[in-house]
Amino acid sequence: MLLPIVLAAGLIVVIAVAVVQAARMRELAASHRAAAAQAEAALAEQSRSSADEREVQAVILASMEEGVLLFDGGGARVFTNAAIGRHLGEAPTSSELLLPIAFRDAVRDAAAGAVTVRAEAETGAPTRWLRATARPVGTDGSVLLVVRDITEARRLDAIRRDFVANASHELKTPVASIRAAAEMLGDGAIDDPDAARRFTEQLERDADRLGRIVSDLLDLSRLETGSERLDRAALDRIVEEEVARRQAQADAAGISISVQTDGVPAISGSTRDLGLMTGNLIDNAIRYTARGGAVSVEVLAERDAVVLRVTDTGVGIPARDIPRIFERFYRVDRARSRETGGTGLGLSIVRHVTENHGGTVTVTSELGQGSTFEVRLPTAPAPAAP
Ligand code: ADP
Repeated sequence: MLLPIVLAAGLIVVIAVAVVQAARMRELAASHRAAAAQAEAALAEQSRSSADEREVQAVILASMEEGVLLFDGGGARVFTNAAIGRHLGEAPTSSELLLPIAFRDAVRDAAAGAVTVRAEAETGAPTRWLRATARPVGTDGSVLLVVRDITEARRLDAIRRDFVANASHELKTPVASIRAAAEMLGDGAIDDPDAARRFTEQLERDADRLGRIVSDLLDLSRLETGSERLDRAALDRIVEEEVARRQAQADAAGISISVQTDGVPAISGSTRDLGLMTGNLIDNAIRYTARGGAVSVEVLAERDAVVLRVTDTGVGIPARDIPRIFERFYRVDRARSRETGGTGLGLSIVRHVTENHGGTVTVTSELGQGSTFEVRLPTAPAPAAP
């Protein structure tokens, strides 16, 4: 009786152990599968992120302004980006075929000396200036060449050099004249009342001229960094004030001056700089118009703009000079400009103020008939409701 019971109990234990073991095996298999799936996902993620990285690198290299060329130790091209074509034409297949020659020499010297070599060269038509940097990569003689277009930087540099030379020359002339007058006075002219008066008047004129040049130069350098557009500037009022300020000058030159201002909306701008701009345009209109002539100044409102128009019946401007008159120190008639107290900087100031206010300036002129300068300034957006 006892034996069958023991056997049955043993059987139950054996079955239970087998069931538990089977369950463990399933669990183990499931956890192995999960680990494998996790490893697989991590691997996929890693290869996706390095593919992404390669893609990002390719986008960066393709959109770079600089041209990039990589040569291996044997001089064969192993990489190039799109910009190199823009700079050099077709990218050469080896460093031996690289042009301009200065760049070929730079690559050769960089590989030979394991040092970074820089070179500049003029190329193409129209002429462009390129700067290349050849940099050794690794130790097998590979060289990375980076080429950039420096034409614009060179142009700006030349403008700056010209400006400094012109400004120095403009300042030197009155200084030399002041020195000469002082010497004449010192050499005895001071004892001759007529001569003394002439030389002191010369001193005064030259000092005034120096003062005007320096003041215009200071205004220009301030305007180059922008205008502070903090005012609700009323151009009609500014124009009326500038005309009144120059009435005596117009009277002395025998020129009639009229002003017409519609009620125009205020613009957000700098009252001081808009006054400077208006003053220069009116001053020019008076100075380049013969006795008996007329200057008219109008301010009117257009749809999205306030327009200032200064018209004279003066000497006019030759068509070929019109594109250049806004350049610093450019004058059509140097003698006339000097005689009437010009610095050659007035229209450059006008252009800066206009641009600083988001506007445009245009000129129409006929030789011997007169000129019209028109400045168009966008109106300020209406102030937000309280
Ligand atoms: P400037 O001090 O010599 O007048 P601007 O920069 O004001 O210098 O003007 C540049 C040149 O443009 C002048 O030298 C002159 O030849 C020409 N110009 C400017 N305004 C007038 C005008 N209203 N009529 C004729 N010529 C003008």
